[in-house]
Amino acid sequence: MTSVEDGCIFCHIVSGSIPATISGENEMALAFRDINPIAPVHILIIPKSHLENAMAIRPEDCAVIAKMFELAQSIAKRESVSETGFRLVMNVGDDAANSVGHLHMHLIGGKRLGLMG
Ligand code: AMP
Repeated sequence: MTSVEDGCIFCHIVSGSIPATISGENEMALAFRDINPIAPVHILIIPKSHLENAMAIRPEDCAVIAKMFELAQSIAKRESVSETGFRLVMNVGDDAANSVGHLHMHLIGGKRLGLMG
């Protein structure tokens, strides 16, 4: 399991040792603004405990995944994109240009988004 000691940047954000612009949190998930936003609203939602990516999710992780979506819903409302629309994205692996090995969901919106691909 990767952790702060192993140098996971998002674990460091959870612990507070690396600063981030926090957008919200609950018991199991944390949300913060992407440092390199691609849209007016670009927020990352992560589990507080380390999971590598979507391929590492097991049935016993269902509570943390539900908490990530609960946080995404509340942020979408607060950022006023729940009615206009937004995108939730989880990248996995090189072909998706996944650059951070700690599970994260991009919440992207605030403008008309292009097609994916
Ligand atoms: P991905 O390509 O799906 O792995 O996305 C990783 C995202 O993390 C990118 O959009 C980065 O801009 C973002 N990111 C990397 N480091 C930080 C950081 N310290 N604070 C906020 N966002 C970050």
